[in-house]
Amino acid sequence: MVKAYAAQMASSPLAPFEITRRAPGPEDVQIAILYCGVCHSDLHTARNEWHNTIYPSVPGHEIVGRVVAVGERVSRFKVGDLAGVGCMVDSCGHCASCAEGEEQYCENGFTGTYNGPDAGGGNTYGGYSHNIVVKESFVLHIKHDEKELAAVAPLLCAGITTYSPLRHWRVGPGMKVGIVGLGGLGHMGVKIAHAMGAHVVLFTTSPSKAADGRRLGADEVCLSSDPAQMAARAGSLDYILNTVAAPHRLEDYLQLLRRDGTMTLVGAPENPHPSPNVFSLIMKRRSLAGSLIGGIRETQEMLDFCARHGIVSDIETIRMDYINTAYERMLKSDVKYRFVIDMATL
Ligand code: NAP
Ligand code: ZN
Repeated sequence: MVKAYAAQMASSPLAPFEITRRAPGPEDVQIAILYCGVCHSDLHTARNEWHNTIYPSVPGHEIVGRVVAVGERVSRFKVGDLAGVGCMVDSCGHCASCAEGEEQYCENGFTGTYNGPDAGGGNTYGGYSHNIVVKESFVLHIKHDEKELAAVAPLLCAGITTYSPLRHWRVGPGMKVGIVGLGGLGHMGVKIAHAMGAHVVLFTTSPSKAADGRRLGADEVCLSSDPAQMAARAGSLDYILNTVAAPHRLEDYLQLLRRDGTMTLVGAPENPHPSPNVFSLIMKRRSLAGSLIGGIRETQEMLDFCARHGIVSDIETIRMDYINTAYERMLKSDVKYRFVIDMATL
């Protein structure tokens, strides 16, 4: 039995729970989990806000730890290595998306690290637990210094979910890029867009985060609740990455894009956004897009990019039994900027 923390139903707090993990097969890596980041998706899932949660639910998809066993066909990992696991643990491996290394868009559905269909017919359990067994091809190498390990955990979801669209829409020097929301995803978006050489404008609803925004790499901070600050930036941005976890007026941000600009949504709120005015798109040939995490190859590229640029997450390390309080604080945007569970406290 493996110790874990689970939600038994949408309305119950997370509590201790015991799970089983499969014995490592020939292509599997078993990882003793040292730290696990707390993503807003964990909260959406634990509380069934996306209406697809299978209970009991063990969240957690920002996993870092140490390899404790490897199957006989595993060649890229050995016992003692540091390793990471993000949002996926499997995919079909043969559809067009998988063939292009975009497993997150697997046409037969990827297997989520939690709440996914388990090969054994059950439901996958995530990183709020002492260990996990994952197919080698979905395990990532960590090149950061070991003492930074806790702060590396959030890269496995918040890092790749921001890196992937920033790369896809070719963010770089000479571009003015907006990041909306300074939470787990947003603060990684600010750091990564800055490291890619863009001029970064942070949009936040929290006046108290302005100084942090600059420290993290924003060239400008705009308080989105102030119409004058928003109007001053109308038509000025090449690209916007919107990470907000709650419904809000997309219209207000579309107005900030130049001709041919794109806003990508990565936030996945429980309820829909009010529909934007179609003329905001038509009149300047603007695009409204979405993006889902990133593929395994790109996740490794992101981890290596962050190691090279000295990028980790700004974290608050918590005990496992603090998780329910952490969720409440996350809902109040009161986290600087990612909670990470120290699994030694489980
Ligand atoms: P988070 O840490 O809670 O950050 C969300 C931020 O959004 C908050 O810090 C806040 O920033 C802003 N915000 C919250 N409520 C708001 C409101 N009512 N109006 C305006 N701004 C508000 O969450 P996260 O972990 O970064 O996740 C963000 C969203 O992305 C979640 O919905 C999550 O499920 C989703 N997600 C998507 C993917 C994907 O692949 N597409 C992957 C991971 C997560 P300020 O205080 O600066 O305003
Ligand atoms: Zn996540």
